[in-house]
Amino acid sequence: MRYVSTRGQAPELGFADVLLAGLANDGGLYVPAEWPTLPAATPGTTYAERAAQVMAPYVGDDVADLLGLCREAYATFAHEAVVPLVQIGDGHFVQELFHGPTLAFKDVALQLVGRMFDTVLRQRGQRVTIVGATSGDTGSAAIDGVKACSNVDIVILYPHGRTSDVQRKQMTTVDAPNVRVVAVEGTFDDCQDLVKAMFNDAAFREQMGLSAVNSINWARVMAQVVYYVVATDVLRGPVDFCVPTGNFGNVLAGWIARRTGAPIDRLVIASNANDILTRFFLDNDMSTAPVVPSLSPSMDIQVSSNFERLLFEMNDRDGGATAEQLQRFRAVGRLTVEPDQRAEFLDGTFMAARVDDAGTLDVMRRTYQASGMLLDPHTAVGVGAVEQIAHIGAGPMVTLATAHPAKFPDAVEQATGVRPPLPAHLADLFDRHERFTVLPNDLATIQQYVATTFR
Ligand SMILES: *Cc1c(COP(=O)(O)O)cnc(C)c1O
Repeated sequence: MRYVSTRGQAPELGFADVLLAGLANDGGLYVPAEWPTLPAATPGTTYAERAAQVMAPYVGDDVADLLGLCREAYATFAHEAVVPLVQIGDGHFVQELFHGPTLAFKDVALQLVGRMFDTVLRQRGQRVTIVGATSGDTGSAAIDGVKACSNVDIVILYPHGRTSDVQRKQMTTVDAPNVRVVAVEGTFDDCQDLVKAMFNDAAFREQMGLSAVNSINWARVMAQVVYYVVATDVLRGPVDFCVPTGNFGNVLAGWIARRTGAPIDRLVIASNANDILTRFFLDNDMSTAPVVPSLSPSMDIQVSSNFERLLFEMNDRDGGATAEQLQRFRAVGRLTVEPDQRAEFLDGTFMAARVDDAGTLDVMRRTYQASGMLLDPHTAVGVGAVEQIAHIGAGPMVTLATAHPAKFPDAVEQATGVRPPLPAHLADLFDRHERFTVLPNDLATIQQYVATTFR
């Protein structure tokens, strides 16, 4: 499989190069040069086996022993079905994507992508240093995904004193020689700026072999296609999905599953008060607004980076047109898409709804009263969106449960009066020893630290 950039100017690459590159060198995102056909389900396959089948056309021979990596990655999940479906109402299921080591759906991709990185680097005799900034969630999933890798070091920056206790502990209690966690005396934006500055320093980037595993990496999107396929295998489609959305990566994976032949009817985009995507799909208004903090912080995003991959499709894969549109978006803060460009995606595929914090708490409370089930606030946004669109599809609706309720105990307690306990594999989290280094918000100091800490 060859990959092309959504902006049309970067060289075509194979899977392994796309995996390591992340972003294309024209600023675009890599997508397969053509969409493969989804391999048919064979009865009795495990999640790991089905994952290897679904991903094989994208990966080819670029990664040795894909099936073995999938088996290892998904053995870290605390549920036999990996991503079990649980019924919460008539024709309405939630797919629990949160049984991984850090209790959020990002584990599904990062447990596998970390292992793929390590394998490809070993094949090539290379090492990299991953640097990343986190406001809480992604950092722990990335750390856990690479902690067993021998060719990857990782340094994660987070804003000192500004993450929840659970989030911090999930990062700082990992005891591995290739993991460092830095508490920066600054905000999340400061952390992001420091990471950007390190990448923009070409000599430093080269010297350290800097790399990233952010949500625009194609391999992460690819790994997420699998659970959509598995849900349609089980429910025997057509199935509708509702996806709590931030960077658009998750819902894009659903579109790819559908595009390649999974029996999926509708994809519902659920957003919180940060509703740029909902405004686009409902009113063709994609204009940026300041980010408002919400009870579902992993969706507090105003520019959804993975949307570029869908825009490329709306442009009939014209990279020049996509690049121009995005340039204008950056300049004027508003993306304009021709009505006919948008129409086929709207009429046939996407729906959207927005749920604010009050609505989120209300859904959590009512769901607990009706079924005794605790939803995390992100999943509750999804369930609330399904209620709003008054689902009338031919088949079942699956709402993706993107985080375990114990990851957001304050919001869950506020809504239901119940403080959800951590699952067994994390029950002793608060007794584990923490390791982190506090550093000032200063580029030279951070670079010095990154350059010397693993020697
Ligand atoms: C990252 C995240 C999301 C948003 O996923 P995207 O792929 O960015 O749309 C939703 N819920 C939780 C819990 C997350 O961690």
